[in-house]
Amino acid sequence: MVIPAVYLTHTSQHNYMTLADKFKSVIRDVKDFPKPGIVFKDITPVFNDPHLVGELLNEMAQHITVLRPDAIAAIEARGFIFGSLLAHHLGCKFIPIRKAGKLPYRTRKEEYSLEYGKAAIEIHEDAVVPGSRIVIHDDLLATGGTAEAAGKLVENADGALVGFSFLINLSFLPGAENLRTRFGVNPYCIAEY
Ligand code: AMP
Repeated sequence: MVIPAVYLTHTSQHNYMTLADKFKSVIRDVKDFPKPGIVFKDITPVFNDPHLVGELLNEMAQHITVLRPDAIAAIEARGFIFGSLLAHHLGCKFIPIRKAGKLPYRTRKEEYSLEYGKAAIEIHEDAVVPGSRIVIHDDLLATGGTAEAAGKLVENADGALVGFSFLINLSFLPGAENLRTRFGVNPYCIAEY
């Protein structure tokens, strides 16, 4: 069978793409979701490609394993996807952080500001072993408000916050800088916009 040249070119280009570029090429921009003016970075197409999921997982795990985490604390809901994969891959615990009112047992709560109004997230009060090393994971870092609230939950439970991991950083916003200043750790992100 003769393979058309255009196909070969495309394939070889694909091979030379960085993982971040490959990831960005499948992220879907959804305009005006969940409200006008927001461009939502939809990561669900990534899950049509299990090989890419594996590559992203390996890449993140390589960066996070050096932090020697005891647990990955992930933020509902999209943070749960790679958060639980990472915890399993690294052989450490998984801690869910959820929107207020969702966790069944006794919780600690942290409020944070949204563009309009406030939101709150919670963690089970016994989820963090005091002194244990925690990495917080979410799909996307924007202003950093959500991740900062998650960091406070870990700190208030006497956990040692050793890192943040995100698939995407909207680097035109000050989220990464805010987390660096507030917690003294450098957030790790695969793709920057
Ligand atoms: P922030 O607290 O501003 O850093 O926002 C981060 C949280 O909001 C994460 O849990 C994201 O899943 C979600 N988020 C914010 N902006 C977007 C966006 N443009 N696309 C997808 N998710 C977003």
